[in-house]
Amino acid sequence: MKDLTKLAHTRCFMLDMDGTFYLGDRLLPGALEFLELMERRGTRCMFLTNNSSRSRKEYVAKLARFGVEIDEGAIFTSGEATALWLRRERPGARICVIGTPALEDEFRRFGFELVEKDPEAVVLGFDTTLTYEKLCRLCDFARAGLPYIATHPDINCPTESGFIPDIGAMMELVATSTGRRPDIIIGKPYAPMAEALAVKTGLDLEQITMVGDRLYTDIALGRNGLSTVLVLSGETTAEDLEDSEFTPDYVMRDLAELVETLEEIGEPS
Ligand SMILES: [Mg+2]
Repeated sequence: MKDLTKLAHTRCFMLDMDGTFYLGDRLLPGALEFLELMERRGTRCMFLTNNSSRSRKEYVAKLARFGVEIDEGAIFTSGEATALWLRRERPGARICVIGTPALEDEFRRFGFELVEKDPEAVVLGFDTTLTYEKLCRLCDFARAGLPYIATHPDINCPTESGFIPDIGAMMELVATSTGRRPDIIIGKPYAPMAEALAVKTGLDLEQITMVGDRLYTDIALGRNGLSTVLVLSGETTAEDLEDSEFTPDYVMRDLAELVETLEEIGEPS
């Protein structure tokens, strides 16, 4: 029988959204039942996304359209993780943020001064409001040798009408122009995201379980000490898993199977 200790010891579940909780405009099987179970048991549950272009408020509104009521504190983006990391490394610094107004607000919330001239560091986010002027600014600061931080590594972002270029594609452009790549990337699957989750929840990483559908971000995050559940309701198939270098602690068809498994385990002790 499978060892369910890691699930039994989980104090907070981190849920990926697309491909795990919903797909496009429909909820995936077990999504609402999973939240009900968490509520009933008093186990914490947060939504975790690498997308740093949207605000927590926008995600709350998106989930509300599915009939899911949560507050902003239950959404954690790579943007907030980057602000937490930078607050520890360079509190109150003057920074240049190449990002959406939502990302800029996130940094102001953590006490940073946002500037376009003479910054102490430059942060690259998923900027769907990118202009040529901002791109030049980013390359200037990279070329000048300033600390260069990226919120996450994703190359493309899936949308209803296909892929749109994400931050990873921008990093290549900057690298071609300046010869520099980010000094640090914060989001899944990297260690700073895991550290940010520990800070955010006040838990040890062994008490946190990441649930997601993508091997090289969600499941790879487990290398930092979290437990992982791969759900096969999104982009990963059972065949992909056979060839993968990333090994989840548990593999489930979808959240519905995770609910059944947690119910088998019974109430957390
Ligand atoms: Mg996903």
